[in-house]
Amino acid sequence: MTDKTQPIFILPEGYSRTVGKDAQRNNIMAAKLVAETVRTTLGPKGMDKMLVDSLGDITITNDGVTILEEMQIEHPAAKMIVEVAKTQEDEVGDGTTTAVVFAGELLKNAEVLLEKNVHPTVIARGYRNAATKAQEILNKIAVTVTAADEDVLKKVAMTAMTGKGAESSKELLASLIVDGVKLVADTNAIDIENIKIEKKVGGGVENAELIKGIVIDKEAVHASMPKKVENAKVALLDAPIEIKNTETDAKIQISSPDQMDAFLKQEEKMIKDKTQKIIESGATVVLCQKGIDDLAQHYLAKANIFACRRVKKSDMEKLSRATGARVVNTIEDLSSDDLGSAGVVEELKVGDEDMTYVRDCPNPKAVTLLLRGGTQHVIDEVERAAKDAMGDIAATLRVGKAVGGAGAPEMELARQLKEFATSLSGREQLAVNSFADAMEVIPRTLAENAGLDPIDVLTELRSHHEKDGTWGGIDISSGKVLDAWENGIIEPLKIKTQAIKSASEVTELILRIDDVIAGGSGDSGGMPPGGMGGGMPPGMM
Ligand code: ADP
Ligand code: MG
Repeated sequence: MTDKTQPIFILPEGYSRTVGKDAQRNNIMAAKLVAETVRTTLGPKGMDKMLVDSLGDITITNDGVTILEEMQIEHPAAKMIVEVAKTQEDEVGDGTTTAVVFAGELLKNAEVLLEKNVHPTVIARGYRNAATKAQEILNKIAVTVTAADEDVLKKVAMTAMTGKGAESSKELLASLIVDGVKLVADTNAIDIENIKIEKKVGGGVENAELIKGIVIDKEAVHASMPKKVENAKVALLDAPIEIKNTETDAKIQISSPDQMDAFLKQEEKMIKDKTQKIIESGATVVLCQKGIDDLAQHYLAKANIFACRRVKKSDMEKLSRATGARVVNTIEDLSSDDLGSAGVVEELKVGDEDMTYVRDCPNPKAVTLLLRGGTQHVIDEVERAAKDAMGDIAATLRVGKAVGGAGAPEMELARQLKEFATSLSGREQLAVNSFADAMEVIPRTLAENAGLDPIDVLTELRSHHEKDGTWGGIDISSGKVLDAWENGIIEPLKIKTQAIKSASEVTELILRIDDVIAGGSGDSGGMPPGGMGGGMPPGMM
């Protein structure tokens, strides 16, 4: 150790350096701590966490990535685990806890091997082999699913929402979401961004609604406009219906009341021309991204046109996809070809706010999921669950494959990986076996979180899988084995493949580090030595 600490002199004062086993141990410990934190939230019986930020705002959630993001983790190795959750969120939208728990367990098992003096690179190699094999196994056991398998998709959505805030209405939400995804899906791409989530406090979770169109947080600009327009012809304008203020200051010299009058008349005429153009296009609804002048409002109202102003740009794009209207930049160019259609456009009171519903669009490529709930916290958690479900359906359709859940695929992986290990020699076999054991962390955690005895449950599961039941998973209410697929506990294949990929990659990365050189922030904040601050070279992930 002494000769190893010599190079400390090459670093500026305040830098700390940890090398060899200490560095590994620190990193693994930090990463395991992160996994341990979210572990209790896994599965339908998982607990929630209440997070309070520095401003006192509260988030109550069960969602892995939300918890880790709110925690503002500092330790570099721990941050790498948080990245795993973020990648999972970006790539799939669900399975963040699973990915993090995998990573924690892989590292924990690696630590045992390190104690036995297995070299980290040997472990890393074994893990990489096992991860590749795991992808192969998963692809083999997965079941093909297409958009026509509505029933399966619904179950995927329901599995995603089990045990979350949306639990009580998951059946309703699942069918709304499946309908929504199917509507917005193009032949070869699914962009769930085209499902707009609108949240309104009040009512109950069971009052959720799918609107074939877009709901916007705006009311009609003028009180005497119609509150409801049927068979609406919708114009989308990205131009003000008012006289623009000039960018530069301009002075107009007016020397007589007549001139003033003429000037105002001129302005009036310009506005009238603009409105006239809109009326002539045949539009009965005008949704404008910019402002609408008082006078224009008056003319539009007189022509029985419903108009909203200052509609968000993101909403304009969705409105265009929903109604088929083209967003027009210059009013002078507006023609009937640019108009879109909606069965009904109406202003409705939701809770205590007026909103505009553009609904019953004939072939909407963007829709709105309106979520309700007693309090903001409830709705936020329902939204997270709904987003998981949307992500899962999209992931299922993109890859075209799904697997059973409830710990079944992980048990099957463990079994088949152990079989695979026997074909390898010596130390690599040890590593692959450790990887296989780590897979069982998911069923074990599901059992623990449900208050079941994990040893009993795992023993039963193992023997079930020996006798060739791929989808043997945990019945979390009885602790017995059930067929996950038959029982509708279904998840996209992508959750598992992505979780294993990211978890094994990060594990490998952490295992290969034997030297942590941390820049001196001066304050180690009680973290393990060498752990704090910006010591992680950029681009490590
Ligand atoms: P994640 O953030 O990883 O998605 P979740 O809290 O959503 O974590 O839990 C997902 C796990 O719960 C998966 O392993 C899934 O198979 C399991 N699960 C979901 N529904 C059930 C159920 N009804 N019975 C048993 N396990 C379930
Ligand atoms: Mg989930």
